Amino acid sequence: MIQISKPIITEKDVQDVSDVLRSGMIVQGPKVRELEEAFCKYCNVKFAVAVNSGTAALHAALNALGVGFGDEVITSPFTFVATANAILMCGATPVFADIDENTFCIDPLEVNKKITKKTRVILPVSLYGLPYDKKIDEIAKTNSLKVLDDAAQSIGSKRDGIVAGSFGDVTAFSLYATKNIMCGEGGMITTNDEEYAEYCKMFRHHGQSEKVRYEYYGLGYNYRMTDLHAAIGINQLSNIENYSLKRINNANILTAGLRGIKGIECPEIPDNCRHVFHQYTIRVTKDFSMNRDQLKEYLQSKEIGTAIYYPKPLHLYKHLAHSGCKIGDFPVAEKTSGEVLSLPVHPSLDDSDLDFIIQSIKSI
Ligand SMILES: *Cc1c(COP(=O)(O)O)cnc(C)c1O
Repeated sequence: MIQISKPIITEKDVQDVSDVLRSGMIVQGPKVRELEEAFCKYCNVKFAVAVNSGTAALHAALNALGVGFGDEVITSPFTFVATANAILMCGATPVFADIDENTFCIDPLEVNKKITKKTRVILPVSLYGLPYDKKIDEIAKTNSLKVLDDAAQSIGSKRDGIVAGSFGDVTAFSLYATKNIMCGEGGMITTNDEEYAEYCKMFRHHGQSEKVRYEYYGLGYNYRMTDLHAAIGINQLSNIENYSLKRINNANILTAGLRGIKGIECPEIPDNCRHVFHQYTIRVTKDFSMNRDQLKEYLQSKEIGTAIYYPKPLHLYKHLAHSGCKIGDFPVAEKTSGEVLSLPVHPSLDDSDLDFIIQSIKSI
């Protein structure tokens, strides 16, 4: 079976986690600090704050940006549910803007239409490993709004040569087991703003300042990362360029093999971007001889694992459907969810795996 994703775990990880267990420093200790410093360096940012999931990173970041009851946050309907749930967790309303069908990210023109007096933050998702459109930053500036980048899938991606982590005011990463780098469960917030970073540090620790214990500056949560997780994260981050280059190379091989097949649209990469292919996602259009679900089943029968990210846009889920959202409101996201299929692209694939995927699709 060719799996859709596969975490890479080394003997060094096993050793380093054992060392943490033996050290007795289990939570929010030296390994967490080391991971935060490594993120600052890699992402070229002043501050990095570790938390225990990408969802926690989004929740903390939204609070740091002042999002609360009654506020609106503009985001994508075509993303993992955690993006929108983090907005609900603040008591705020997710306001969706439709996506661009070539990049799968929110369309700046649609974002513009959704701005109201209540809008506080724009939360674009850098989906599948591709940074969001920088026009969104200009729109935010013009309207005095803040930008939070959901970069859960795009660590190591670049826009105009700048690595992800500082595109918006704050960036949220995930270190969940299937992401480009992982530590089991984990998240990281990066920013160049000291106030936001300090806020997130308190937020992850019940509102306590790291300087004075049992002094609470506001509502906080237990979002602390353990050193067991951080030890794995450090090793993963030290290998990130290898992993990203392998993903990019695998994606190039897939595109070279699949381009030109009628009804299969390969991912497009804007000229100014480095796409790190968390997912390699094709669109299966009406011109192909099978529909998307049939192709998925066929590949499964050939022992090729694929996945649909995401089968249903978020505005069609009951808990997220605000002000009577209904089918037809976000036509691009709706059409896209019926066409997308993610193929294996992870770093552990070899050339024969990729060739088998290509030949299997071609033979149809
Ligand atoms: C994975 C993911 C998250 C949530 O991260 P967790 O670490 O699983 O909490 C949020 N947004 C997107 C786009 C994701 O892919």
